[in-house]
Amino acid sequence: MGRSGTVTEMLPFLLACAHTPRDSTPERPELPPTVLLVSMDGFRASYLDAHDTPNLDRLAALGLRADGLIPPFPSKTFPSHYTAVTGLYPEHHGLVGNTIYDAERDAWYSMGDRSAVEDGSWYEGEPIWATANKAGLETATLFWVGSEAEIGGQRPDTWLPYDGSMTFEARVDRVLSWLDRTEDRPRFLTLYLDEPDHVGHAGGPEGLGIPTGVTMVDNALGNLLDGLEQRELLDEIDILVTSDHGMAELSRDRMVFLDDAIDTSAVEIVNWSPVTLILPEPEPGTEDELLVELAELEHLACAKKEDLDPELHYADHDRIPPIVCLADEGWSVSTRWWYGVDPTGWTGGTHGYDPRLESMHGIFVAAGPSLRTGRVEAFENVHLYELMCAILELEPAENDGELMTSLLHR
Ligand code: AMP
Ligand code: ZN
Ligand code: ZN
Repeated sequence: MGRSGTVTEMLPFLLACAHTPRDSTPERPELPPTVLLVSMDGFRASYLDAHDTPNLDRLAALGLRADGLIPPFPSKTFPSHYTAVTGLYPEHHGLVGNTIYDAERDAWYSMGDRSAVEDGSWYEGEPIWATANKAGLETATLFWVGSEAEIGGQRPDTWLPYDGSMTFEARVDRVLSWLDRTEDRPRFLTLYLDEPDHVGHAGGPEGLGIPTGVTMVDNALGNLLDGLEQRELLDEIDILVTSDHGMAELSRDRMVFLDDAIDTSAVEIVNWSPVTLILPEPEPGTEDELLVELAELEHLACAKKEDLDPELHYADHDRIPPIVCLADEGWSVSTRWWYGVDPTGWTGGTHGYDPRLESMHGIFVAAGPSLRTGRVEAFENVHLYELMCAILELEPAENDGELMTSLLHR
């Protein structure tokens, strides 16, 4: 973990490059470097070409677009959003799932539990708003995972408790109003939009709801870009539009029944599907026995956490249970009883699968004075923290990412 010395040594040079005006335009941006980080939840990379996205296209034409943005494992909302702002894999930032069990504290975290979500002890690492605050920069968040908790003694200067019923128009207006401040105009801002995740879960990535969800967030981006243009800020802010993961099609014909292999009442199942996290009784030999039984199941790969593929970066945290199973793309994990009593379950779409699958890739479309233009290859969202620190001229905290100089203006 940590930054390489080379990047640190190159930083002053890279920052000088980052703020060289585009083309041969003589003027420097009027604003000091400012980053607006946007998330469109569950916006799968393939939606960009499959659906009408005039405003994302407009932003891409002003700046750059990646083939995809690769989430961390598991490819879920909370782990992924917090990786983007800390540059840490979940095994290092502690949000190892949307639902977490901390055996040492005998405590549960879930995204619907306000007191847990607002409890800073769940969040490790240093989110970018804390790095920015420490350097004296003003920060404002319109929802982001972690922004509602005090982490390491820091909070964003302005933040709102998550309210999924706030319209996208109102969210955009609020962000624009923060940029209208003259005294303490934020230099780092976030905007979170919880579509097209809902429509993706409901009907799958090819479902009839996708065009509506995509249009909702694209329109919101249109309002944002228009508002920035009216304020003559469009060329002066680095706008990074991201998404936290993609979406895969489910089917009731693609089921793995855990109770075909193990006695599910003898273990604690912390997460069910498509990542199954199993906490066995702490008796010698139990884990090995369970793994022998679980190996009978097709379309589910189980291992002790320390034996998982290192590319998943999912071993180094006590909150990760000893046994981790991952279903094949589009497969779900359940029990025969549960499957029988819920005839509508395991349809539509979900995510959480191996982040290297293209169906799990999100989007990265961005433009601004610090960024290059054109098209770039898919990259991991763990690198966004270093990128934003470079744009904002901040000394990054220790993290797992690298500064992607190829994204900066040259
Ligand atoms: P997922 O199950 O991973 O698809 O989670 C997506 C859901 O996370 C969305 O429906 C949002 O409503 C919810 N969400 C996103 N940010 C927050 C937050 N800060 N607090 C509570 N829920 C959130
Ligand atoms: Zn999500
Ligand atoms: Zn989701």
